[in-house]
Amino acid sequence: MIIVFFIKTATASAVPLDSILSSENLQKITENLNDLENYHGVRVIFDVTDSDGSIFGESLYDFVLKGLQRGPNRNWNVLVFYNVKKNQLRFVTYAHCSLGEENLAKIKGTSPVQDVLNSPSPSNEDISKMFLFISDELRNLILTSINSSSTCNIEITHKLKLKSNEYAVPDSVLKAIYSVIMDKSWEESNPGGFYVSQNFIPGETFDFLPFVTSDKKKFISLLEEKTKFSDKEIESYYKILTTEGNIVLIEDYPDDYLFHERIHEIIHKELTEEERNLLSNKKISDFDPLLSANLPEFTLVPAALRLTLSTGNWQEIYAYMAQYEKYPSSQDYTRYIDKEVYDSFSSNYPEEYKIYKKVFNLALR
Ligand SMILES: [Zn+2]
Repeated sequence: MIIVFFIKTATASAVPLDSILSSENLQKITENLNDLENYHGVRVIFDVTDSDGSIFGESLYDFVLKGLQRGPNRNWNVLVFYNVKKNQLRFVTYAHCSLGEENLAKIKGTSPVQDVLNSPSPSNEDISKMFLFISDELRNLILTSINSSSTCNIEITHKLKLKSNEYAVPDSVLKAIYSVIMDKSWEESNPGGFYVSQNFIPGETFDFLPFVTSDKKKFISLLEEKTKFSDKEIESYYKILTTEGNIVLIEDYPDDYLFHERIHEIIHKELTEEERNLLSNKKISDFDPLLSANLPEFTLVPAALRLTLSTGNWQEIYAYMAQYEKYPSSQDYTRYIDKEVYDSFSSNYPEEYKIYKKVFNLALR
């Protein structure tokens, strides 16, 4: 097995492990990692960079890029991410609870690791020792965790059941309403779900004006053009999509889509106005302190998701945070929220965080 990896971006350069580690240590580490992968199906990857980016966003990006959040034993996969230039170390796991934060913190807090992190310029020999120590400790931790029932259960075993106000409809139906509301082409419209907080495509408002087509008419003619639905079917989809309080999803919706839309519903229906005001006063930059640090490559919320958040409703940040907290594997390297965001949110905005947690817990019902 090859344990030297490269980050495939222009700004981060990976440092080959054999340029730092002694060949003896490298061999021992490789044996440890091979054993974990071959006999226990757990992947542990060591990655060393010397980039100027934030270790937070960069390490999570790397974790998802390498697909460590996937696979049957993903609960126990670990990325050991070390920035040699900044002398910073981070462990990334699939879910925050999988190997236990205290266990990982304990490894990080022990002397072979602390000796390196506290040194202004650690020697390669010390770094080499640190890596060997970490690989031994992680191996022990993983072997105990795998057989323990106390690790968190994060598997999605079956589909969430739809409630009476929740519908799964053909993809083209959601495509049509998205295209009308957002004024996008058919090809650009690929929504996964929708919470109906109000009727977004009224039929009557402009009907008395000549030459003005109502959004309802646009929606209907789009479906007539693109699908073979009968008038009756189209009318029933229109009703579903315009009835306030409904959640509408694509036919083959993953659970995390439904969970995301339920967050919108709960914020809309179950929070007091005061609570909603508190949440809506927060800007994306409040969640990502690195935004102002001029580090566009590896921020805590990557560019594609940031664009969604900045063009969408203020509620999107909470909906995505909840979605990724409950279903971490629904993240990929273009769309994720780093754990650091949750940590800084909870410590800097405890009141707002309490409301977020209330919404999150209500969605678990
Ligand atoms: Zn949303």
